[in-house]
Amino acid sequence: MEHKTIELPYSFDALEPHIDAKTMEVHYSKHHQGYAAKMNEVLAKYPNLSEEDPEELLKKVDSLDMDSVDKQKFINFGGGFVNHNLFWSVMGPEKQIDEDLVAQIEKTFGGVDEFKEKFNGLAGTLFGSGWTWLVKTPEGELEVYNLPNQDSPLSKSHTPILTLDVWEHAYYLKYQNRRPEYIDAWWNVVKMIP
Ligand code: MN
Repeated sequence: MEHKTIELPYSFDALEPHIDAKTMEVHYSKHHQGYAAKMNEVLAKYPNLSEEDPEELLKKVDSLDMDSVDKQKFINFGGGFVNHNLFWSVMGPEKQIDEDLVAQIEKTFGGVDEFKEKFNGLAGTLFGSGWTWLVKTPEGELEVYNLPNQDSPLSKSHTPILTLDVWEHAYYLKYQNRRPEYIDAWWNVVKMIP
């Protein structure tokens, strides 16, 4: 079956000035749709797998019965499909603070500012293309780390909570090489954390 990306839950210009409309349009309409198309193309060779939710496939990616080249394509494009669905969802023009999450962040990292400092440090130093993640482990603990390319925490049995796309396509039109500015601006449009 053909999997479709989520509908963008706001207009392309809704996150201005922090994330500019042109970047949103290209990122969603070209990059994300491209990942979806390429993921569907790979899965079309495996009709049984294509019926399953890509998130579920990523959770058990090691044991999937796929040709190794196709499996790597699925990790790349399926990861891109799933990661961007989450990325759009954690952002919005208005804050909708998740008090339970904030409480757990305070408990784990000593405060929201301390958490952001740690997250920003990771995002700022990620080499190459990848994402910075806040995840929940199977034991219910919060962790932050970077993953390269489109690799998903789902494949490490972790539940993604919050993520920042640090690929250059996510910020280069507006911020060029000023990645720290992009990271700082992004927190203004993260819904669940003040
Ligand atoms: Mn992206």
